[in-house]
This record gives sequence, structure tokens and C-alpha cells, in this order.
Amino acid sequence: MGEWSDYFEDFPEEAPQPPSAEERAKEKFDSDIKEMNSDAFALIAKTKKKANDAAQLQKKEFLESVDDCPQCGEKELNVYKLANKIYLCECQDCGIYGSGDDFSSALHKTASAIGDNIDWRDGSLFSVSTK
Ligand SMILES: [Zn+2]
Repeated sequence: MGEWSDYFEDFPEEAPQPPSAEERAKEKFDSDIKEMNSDAFALIAKTKKKANDAAQLQKKEFLESVDDCPQCGEKELNVYKLANKIYLCECQDCGIYGSGDDFSSALHKTASAIGDNIDWRDGSLFSVSTK
């Protein structure tokens, strides 16, 4: 009888142990980091959304037409004619974009980016010309 307790007496390092203080501290540290990261990501997302919302408002006055997106096929491709006469396409659905001197070259540029996984929400080419 008592074979297992004999075994653990001989090999105490193999006996089930509650997590050590060090392990508990590491677990807490890991979950704290996770929490901090998600807070930071939430803040970044919020800041980004705010900037995008502001840019979307500015863009409105340059909106020329809405076309079919060459990538996702949705009629969500906003076509802007910017103050510097550059055409800019941005899909509101999948995020693909491209610009050019006229509509067809902007659309061509957009179509050639299919599969590149680009998203104008990560850095729009849109800028209000100060000229
Ligand atoms: Zn699209």
C-alpha cells in the first residue's frame, strides 16, 4: 500500500505541485501584458477611426462617382477627383485603392493591386491639396 506516496517520496520533483510564486507572477505578468496590449490596440483603433472619419468628411466634397469594385465586386468603389486633378479610387468594402491622372488609370491601378491586400484605411493616398 501507499505505492504512489512512496514513489513521490523518492522523486519529490515529480509530485504534483501547486504553481510556484514565480509561475503565478509570470501568469499575472502575461495577463497584464495582454490587457495592456488590448487597451493599446483599442486606443490605436479609436484614433485611427477618428482620423478616418475626419478624412471621410473631407473627401465627400471630392466624390465624383461610386463604381463597382474590381476586387470585391461591390458597388462600393468611391471615386474621388481631387483638387490636384488626381483620381483616387477607394473601395468602402474591401479597402483596395489606387490613383491616377484620370479615372481609367486610377481604376487600372486599383485593379492591378488585387491580391496585394492593401487597405486605404491603413494609409490613404487622399490629401487635401494646399495649392
Ligand atoms: Zn472592394
